[in-house]
Amino acid sequence: MERKIVVAGNWKMNMLPSQTGEFIAGFKGKFKDDRQVVFCVPAVSLSVAVEAVKGTNYAVGAQNLHEKESGAYTGEISSQMLADMGVKYVIIGHSERRQYFGETDEGVNAKAQSALGAGLIPIICVGETLEERNKNITLEVVRLQTKVALHNIEEKAVKNIVIAYEPVWAIGTGLTATSQQAEEVCKAIRDLLAELYNDSVAKAVTIQYGGSVNGKNAGELFSQPNIDGGLVGGASLKAEFVDVVNG
Ligand code: PEP
Repeated sequence: MERKIVVAGNWKMNMLPSQTGEFIAGFKGKFKDDRQVVFCVPAVSLSVAVEAVKGTNYAVGAQNLHEKESGAYTGEISSQMLADMGVKYVIIGHSERRQYFGETDEGVNAKAQSALGAGLIPIICVGETLEERNKNITLEVVRLQTKVALHNIEEKAVKNIVIAYEPVWAIGTGLTATSQQAEEVCKAIRDLLAELYNDSVAKAVTIQYGGSVNGKNAGELFSQPNIDGGLVGGASLKAEFVDVVNG
């Protein structure tokens, strides 16, 4: 089975709820039909985004969740709440959340299990820092992050996961991994999936690249054999997102 190209725009903490509907509507009819486009918008804009994608094949994603179903967790949002409002995807373990909010690999695993339990598709982010790349431990770091994130997740469920390889040094910096660097790590992730599960899982799972993807470099990155699209920050907030998605 051919894997679909999935391109998710991570808006981070940008764009007002009142601007969201019009912004999404502006893309109508511009993306290639064979692309799955996901708008990962701030929590306060999710309901507007869900409304805006009605009648299209775009999906809406959240940028975080709390792993518990409900309870005394002031300010948090559960997977069940996201699913109930029509959200389909959720970014988990983005490097900004790891860096600024202390998220750990174990926490990422708990959130991924919660998302899958509610029928959401988790986009699990992994990636090395520049220091780790310079020490030549990129593959070890990414393998460990992925392995812990997938702990106790069964074969049936893992096929519904998206893994985003995002080298921390490439996020929001304008420095993009070369297509060879990105392909090497995405292939290593796929090999790990074959090792942890089997070839059928390895072939089924969508593996994205993220880190300063733009309208000029997306085509080459997404045409690598083990790269099935991207997680896109800055460029997803511009008209250029069309060129990114269409690659
Ligand atoms: C991201 O937010 O995941 C990201 C990759 O950002 P940017 O495309 O701006 O580097």
